[in-house]
Amino acid sequence: VGAGRMGVGLRLQVRFQPILGTDTLRVRGAELLLRWVTPQGEIPPTQFIPIAEMTGSIVPIGKWVFRQACLAEAAWRARHGISAPYVSVNISARQLNDETLARTCKAELAETGADPSRVLLELTETSLMSDVATNLRVLGQLAELGLQVAVDDFGTGYSSLSQLLRMPVSTLKIDREFVDGIDKRHDSKAIVSAVSSMARAMRLEVIAEGVENENQLNYLRDIGCDYVQGFLFHRPMLPEDFARLLQERAAERRSDHAEDLY
Ligand code: C2E
Ligand code: MG
Ligand code: MG
Repeated sequence: VGAGRMGVGLRLQVRFQPILGTDTLRVRGAELLLRWVTPQGEIPPTQFIPIAEMTGSIVPIGKWVFRQACLAEAAWRARHGISAPYVSVNISARQLNDETLARTCKAELAETGADPSRVLLELTETSLMSDVATNLRVLGQLAELGLQVAVDDFGTGYSSLSQLLRMPVSTLKIDREFVDGIDKRHDSKAIVSAVSSMARAMRLEVIAEGVENENQLNYLRDIGCDYVQGFLFHRPMLPEDFARLLQERAAERRSDHAEDLY
């Protein structure tokens, strides 16, 4: 699980970066992030995903990635029940345009036994707004399967809010650029706070990505941002390290609970 060979010599591995509740700092979810491992070292997804999109190989890669996400969800839930984290997985624009996406997702969900309501599909704002008519139809099919949808890198594209509201979206992920600006720039602070209140009004949950320091965390907590993700807490982790983190956190909670009893 979590490592695979695509075609000749393409070794892909997954990492999981924890997503925490802002108030409790408990692990509530994890984002699956892809790595291409070569003898020369790891190649980051920002370099190979655009190429995979151009050549179309993102479709089989995306299928494999979605399966890894489903397997992880099922495994974490088998181990931790309702306190298991949800899994978040990136879907590229090109996959959204592929007619077989919903069918593939349906088959993988059935084969792996993953709970679709605990699988969050991350689509960037730019890809969601690129072809609204097609996307509305495909997102409708995905929502019918029970999958959740998040808008990734929110604030970097040009969203039509009325069109966004017509889409079956449950979550906004505030782009790292704005989180990074919290303790540097006045306008970033205003944007992060405005996005949070807007999301609340639209009954959407908000995740801040790229949280790197306490100052940013405190601000995000003050404005009521629901979830945080970033190097302040954890870097993207090997699947086995993430599984260990979940075990440790569960053990801590059990011993806290035991202390409460006395
Ligand atoms: P993203 O979906 O916005 O993922 C968040 C990126 O921010 C990740 O980079 C993560 O490692 C990084 N990050 C998280 N916290 C921090 C922080 O505190 N500071 C800094 N400086 N960075 C942080 P990564 O793993 O290099 O991925 C980059 C992008 O590649 C992702 O952006 C996503 O758009 C794409 N990507 C990754 N995996 C997949 C995949 O399986 N499929 C597709 N289609 N795209 C993927
Ligand atoms: Mg993402
Ligand atoms: Mg992002």
